[in-house]
Amino acid sequence: MGTCEEARSFCICAEIFLALSPLGERVARDPDVLHRDAGRAFARRRVMEVQGKQPATARRRVRGSRVIRASMVVTYAQAISVVQERIGQANPRPPLETVSLEEVRGRVLAEDVVADRDLPPFHRAIRDGYALRAADLSALPAVFRCVEEVPAGQHFDGKVDPGQCVSIMTGAPLPVGADAVVMVEHTRSLGEHIEIQRSVQRWENVVLQGSEAVLGACVLARGRRLRAAEMGLLAAVGKVRVAVYRQPKVAILPTGDEVVAVEQRPQWFQIRNSNAVTLSAQVTSAGGVPVGLGIAPDRKDALREMIERGLDSDLLLLSGGVSMGKFDLVEEVLAELGAEFFFQGAAIRPGKPLVFGRVRDRFFFGLPGNPVSTFVTFELFVRPAIAMLGGTGFEPLVLLRARLAKPCRQRTGLTMFMPARVWVQNRDPVVELVNWQGSGDLVGTAAANCFLVIHPDQTELAAGDWVDVMTEGQ
Ligand code: AMP
Ligand code: MG
Repeated sequence: MGTCEEARSFCICAEIFLALSPLGERVARDPDVLHRDAGRAFARRRVMEVQGKQPATARRRVRGSRVIRASMVVTYAQAISVVQERIGQANPRPPLETVSLEEVRGRVLAEDVVADRDLPPFHRAIRDGYALRAADLSALPAVFRCVEEVPAGQHFDGKVDPGQCVSIMTGAPLPVGADAVVMVEHTRSLGEHIEIQRSVQRWENVVLQGSEAVLGACVLARGRRLRAAEMGLLAAVGKVRVAVYRQPKVAILPTGDEVVAVEQRPQWFQIRNSNAVTLSAQVTSAGGVPVGLGIAPDRKDALREMIERGLDSDLLLLSGGVSMGKFDLVEEVLAELGAEFFFQGAAIRPGKPLVFGRVRDRFFFGLPGNPVSTFVTFELFVRPAIAMLGGTGFEPLVLLRARLAKPCRQRTGLTMFMPARVWVQNRDPVVELVNWQGSGDLVGTAAANCFLVIHPDQTELAAGDWVDVMTEGQ
């Protein structure tokens, strides 16, 4: 058998093997398996190129097949576990920097933060009312003598004795002797005396000192992303300078001779560079710093030079040039630069021609050029990658559930992420696909507020079925 035939049967065998074998289990046991498979496929192609023979994938292109390198196409679940494992093994440890509390939104905490005092720092009244001893309320109504008034920000240094109460406001410290607060709504003022109409349990309407956290307890652990709530907690423990991880720099390199700068007036056969804008916004929201590299033409020398520039960043994102077209050169150039490929294609739609690998110690994603594919593959794979490179650890995608508004029929074998709208009807979330023309359609996608997730085994879905929904930007 000739080398070319051999290679072709290798690919076919690989397809059969993929169809029959639980590759996910192999990947889980041995994450190098995909890399080795990739290495073999590349080695074979290189040997054939050197011998002047046509490699299997090229043959397939000529024949118009849309199959990429079958040995490198993984399921969605496999793809995300490969991303998690590869970046996890690299154990990224971003450098630290100290920033002021006002600047930490979206950043990742690089130190454990402890409570500098008990939280709350005193037994705190959480209702306006009267502080007293709960045991004094055995018979109702009961009349108490009001001995003091304590607004928030003040304190009563005396003691509440049996039969006495203290008028107290939300946020004030409970006076010594008292062990509950009766809400003002359940009382009647009789001048110096107060009639109490309802009983209370001990510690009712009070939050005990240290019940949220005691002095010295860790309230925020290293690796936490700092949102408004965490910032509030940092403020509550007096943390005005905060150690955070440096944000990963993420190079964005769209490719394509037809792609022109947004500011430029495109000719009728050209396309504006929308991907760089989308990706830049997504990188920022994922906690990275976008680094725009301009647009790479479909020429190997220029592409190589721009990819090399991208390797100055912590992560390189390419868009376009990873399908089967004659001018889809991204993988070829990366391979020439010595890249390892962890997968080259995922069984998802949109976004099948997706590449993940490493070159010169830098991870890269080759995202498909179609704008919706670029967007979705970022959400699925790049967002968690940036999180890990930024010091948070792996954050799994959380899917929500909604009822399907209309029946839906799909081809099996792919995990689909379809632009959809979710709303609430009779207290249930309901989801419906938006009208869209496929993975190039940003108009349809902009009309969506979520993605309906259809799993490979879900071929027939009826109206009213509970289905998974991905909200973007988690
Ligand atoms: P490709 O993956 O290079 O074959 O491109 C697939 C489709 O996406 C083509 O229709 C391209 O014109 C389009 N495309 C590629 N890059 C971009 C970009 N940066 N912005 C908008 N559309 C793009
Ligand atoms: Mg292209």
